[in-house]
Amino acid sequence: MKIDWSKLGFAYMDTHSHIRYTWRNGKWSDGELIREPYIKMHIAATALHYGQDAFEGLKVFRGKNGIVSAFRPYENARRLQASARRNCMAEVPDEMFMDAIRRVVKDNMDFVPPYGTGASMYVRPLLIGTGAQIGVNAADEFTFIVMVMPVGAYYKGGLKPVRALVIDDFDRAAPYGTGTVKLGGNYGAALLPHKIANDKGFPVDLYLDAVERKYIEEFGTSNFIAIDAKGAYVTPRSHSVLPSVTNNGLKTLAAHLGMKVEERPIAFDEISGFQEIAACGTAVVITPVNEIVRGDQVIRVGPREGCGPVLQNLYNHYTAIQWAESPDPFGWLEAI
Ligand SMILES: *Cc1c(COP(=O)(O)O)cnc(C)c1O
Repeated sequence: MKIDWSKLGFAYMDTHSHIRYTWRNGKWSDGELIREPYIKMHIAATALHYGQDAFEGLKVFRGKNGIVSAFRPYENARRLQASARRNCMAEVPDEMFMDAIRRVVKDNMDFVPPYGTGASMYVRPLLIGTGAQIGVNAADEFTFIVMVMPVGAYYKGGLKPVRALVIDDFDRAAPYGTGTVKLGGNYGAALLPHKIANDKGFPVDLYLDAVERKYIEEFGTSNFIAIDAKGAYVTPRSHSVLPSVTNNGLKTLAAHLGMKVEERPIAFDEISGFQEIAACGTAVVITPVNEIVRGDQVIRVGPREGCGPVLQNLYNHYTAIQWAESPDPFGWLEAI
């Protein structure tokens, strides 16, 4: 099969295999590469009825030096462990998580895009309850899958700003709910508001805190980051925001570059004073947001075109590390 790497989007594609492990009688199997993208499971599996479902997303890059590396995989391993604990599922140990990524990427090496195309390999770990249960209880059997697929450079002609719609009629997550872990159920709760925002012409939706509708939480599938009037990197602290690996990395870089980094409650009323705003996450790193709409209120932030200079600079540093175009001072690349 010949792939036009320059035309890839962010879409599912069949590859040679996925890797699958099963947890039974208190322990994980050794894992197996499976050719077919299908799973046979019990109709009473808890993943289907009671939402025992957690996932992750990370990327593998073919660097300028030719080395194929996963980007910060242990961060995703730890987050999946937190999701498993919250959702009463068996935890996947770090070594098994990394073993899964190594084996499935090696088996699909020809799907890791060449350096210079902007395309990379997206890695999607999935943990589900596959044991049968009809009473509301955790399963006694779990399945861990890692699937991979090549994905395109999201921004072909530089970072493009988008408009965001504030969601006032729905919540993605509540304090002490499951917002801080990456569960499938969180996405179920956000699908309808996401569709409503999309249908109105907003690529991203912004959630406020579920209690007072006063503080900024995050975008539907990505964290909220901003550069305030004094040039500090600011991002919300909350009981219901998903700890984004991208946000964590950008904070680290910002501090490394001498910027002030603040993680604190951010009132919605503050945003008109910000210089730059963006959504951040693995798929695109940074999506600049230049307009935020809440009912009749329209708030414009940053440049009309492109990305503001501070976030653009952070983006450049971050992606240069991913592609091994610059040194990796924090040890973020894990060779496959
Ligand atoms: C996955 C996710 C993010 C982004 O996290 P990254 O680790 O940076 O990809 C942000 N918000 C939510 C709600 C998510 O599910």
